[in-house]
Amino acid sequence: MSEQHKMRPESLMMSYGYKPALSEGAIKSPIFMTSTFVFKNAEEGKAFFELAYGLREPNENEEPGLIYSRINNPDLEILENRLSLWDEADDCAVFESGMSAITTVMLEFLAPGDLLLFSTPLYGGTEHFIHDYLKKIGVHSIAFKPGQEWSELEGMIENSGLKDKLRMIFIETPANPTNSLIDIEQCKRLANQYTNDNNRVYVAVDNTYMGPLWQQPLKHGADFSLYSATKYIGGHSDVIAGACCGNAEVMKRVKTLRTFLGNMAAPHTGWLLMRSLETLKVRMEQQALNAEKVANFLARHAKVEKVYYLGYIKLGTKEYETFKRQYTSNGAMLAFDVVGGEKEAFKFMNALKLIKLAVSLGGTESLVEHPATMTHAGVPVDDRLEMGITPKLVRLSVGVENYNDIIWDIQQALEQL
Ligand SMILES: *Cc1c(COP(=O)(O)O)cnc(C)c1O
Repeated sequence: MSEQHKMRPESLMMSYGYKPALSEGAIKSPIFMTSTFVFKNAEEGKAFFELAYGLREPNENEEPGLIYSRINNPDLEILENRLSLWDEADDCAVFESGMSAITTVMLEFLAPGDLLLFSTPLYGGTEHFIHDYLKKIGVHSIAFKPGQEWSELEGMIENSGLKDKLRMIFIETPANPTNSLIDIEQCKRLANQYTNDNNRVYVAVDNTYMGPLWQQPLKHGADFSLYSATKYIGGHSDVIAGACCGNAEVMKRVKTLRTFLGNMAAPHTGWLLMRSLETLKVRMEQQALNAEKVANFLARHAKVEKVYYLGYIKLGTKEYETFKRQYTSNGAMLAFDVVGGEKEAFKFMNALKLIKLAVSLGGTESLVEHPATMTHAGVPVDDRLEMGITPKLVRLSVGVENYNDIIWDIQQALEQL
């Protein structure tokens, strides 16, 4: 080629990283349901292990050889190459769940005595791991809220007596379910402030809500972009999986711990996610378009008090500035307050005909749930109320159905109130 043309990720999701000639010319990657791989000869086996154990540097054009499916497998490697494209990451590791990806990063980069700073509300499983498991092994943590002043955060770190022990800032933005935002670049500046020759402070972002299409945390200085691939990446509510993207140095550590925890995704999961990636962009774009129509309908409805939607962030605010810098879409996750309380919220959800009542999000079908009694039932009531998670709040993950049908369903259910 005389001139370099850089393909966009969506154009590469069908083919990147896969060589048909290695699989009888099959246009799609087979599912490599195998635990182990045959070496051509003993010398090859030795060479593969030398690289896997880092006993020597690779020769020019030498790639890691296939050894054993806990270490590597073609379905996982191809998937990881494709997922890396969206975040423009050096590498990616896929896991058997989003929780596996998150906990593996925390276990690798945090040690007893360390301090973790994290945003609230976090996904319930993540919060549980921090409060129960990490606490048990002596990892200290401090929680902060979206919108809290950075000087106040600094004060909390300084007053903790552990400022030399700060090792990680873990955030979820936008926050679930209220869509409040956190500035990743500000987190990076804070991390840099406490980074010195002996201690690197890492920034990890749970990018499940807006990634990989609409938010790329690594571009804003984060070290990890983490996913529950169960959500938008998988997109069909039929698989549990997770992923972590980052630079070569951190990913080497993540993949090494994954090898020894043995929590990599299975070949069939890898294959399902590759299939999902082919339609990732068209699905997410349709979901965002539908969400906009639904939000605008909700905002005008007399039985709806307030809509939490990224498209409604007020111009000229600090949050709007963060939004413009960090996101390329309003997303497809909404929450709204019905007029009334739990009774009205339940009545509304029970009356829906097309939209299903279930937790999880990001799938092709629209889902509603009630955060106060379901996903966020474990959050202390005062914290919940402060975050806006009241009994009248309903969360909605907008799917790919015709938006007129979604709106029709919401309208007929609201009319029951
Ligand atoms: C679902 C979810 C997780 C956990 O992922 P699993 O795949 O269920 O393990 C983590 N973070 C967020 C934001 C989620 O929505």
